[in-house]
Amino acid sequence: MEKISREHVIFEMNKENKPVLTVDSGTNVIFETQDCFSGEVQTEADTVSSIDFSKVNPATGPLYIKGAEVGDALKVTIRRITLDDQGAVLAAPGLGMFAEDIEKEETVIGEVTEDATFYKGHEIPLRKMVGVIGTAPAGEGVNTGTPHDHGGNLDTTLLTEGATLYLPVNTPGALLAMGDMHSAMGDGEIMGSGLEVAGEIEVTVEVVKENNYPLPFVETEDLYATLASRETMEEASKVALDHMVEVIRDKTDLTFNQAGMFLSLAGDLKVSQAVNPNKTMRVEVRKDILEK
Ligand code: CA
Ligand code: CA
Repeated sequence: MEKISREHVIFEMNKENKPVLTVDSGTNVIFETQDCFSGEVQTEADTVSSIDFSKVNPATGPLYIKGAEVGDALKVTIRRITLDDQGAVLAAPGLGMFAEDIEKEETVIGEVTEDATFYKGHEIPLRKMVGVIGTAPAGEGVNTGTPHDHGGNLDTTLLTEGATLYLPVNTPGALLAMGDMHSAMGDGEIMGSGLEVAGEIEVTVEVVKENNYPLPFVETEDLYATLASRETMEEASKVALDHMVEVIRDKTDLTFNQAGMFLSLAGDLKVSQAVNPNKTMRVEVRKDILEK
């Protein structure tokens, strides 16, 4: 099994980054990841002031996939996520959706077990997910805290074991990197962090030459989802909706109006995260309803 250890991190997704591993399409690769604080938050005394912000959101990689050419899609299937046994969630003035209301920094350490995250005595069912995952963007580099069309800090709860994410290939080899895993995070990521945990992710990477999906695109056992990240939730919603209308029209004989009405009846517009430099929205449609 190919593996990239957690010393190999980037803080910007960029075509100029040197790959740390090269594999064939179809290979399984393990990415060992740091938590989003580069391991600097270990106790409840480690509040936001103690963090070196130049080391936030390390993404392990990048991985070069042979045969990936500009214009292809990279299909990334998440096979397994293994998490460490503790993580941290933060409150800090200026951070998240209560930014203006928070007066005092606070860190809570949560315990992570096989089934749950324990937060201040509350048992939250385990919701393992990858927060940052992306390829090199088309133009200038983008820091790993910002999501856009290349993926990045998508913070989307669907990105868990069994899910497939399609990303654009903007440079030969794609240059895939990922990190920022959570054991628990609700849609929206209200305070700006999930339960931030280090761990490892096993993925299968495959080059798709004739991609029909608008990117980034997610497929799970039950759902299709379009993802879009823009400066506001309204702008991101419009892009994600436009992309899902394309998908519906590709998979059915419905007209534009009829595809929109289908979405009105059977599509769910959801917030992935509302706290990053660009906001990420998604549109989910059930596969069994769409394909019948
Ligand atoms: Ca994140
Ligand atoms: Ca995070």
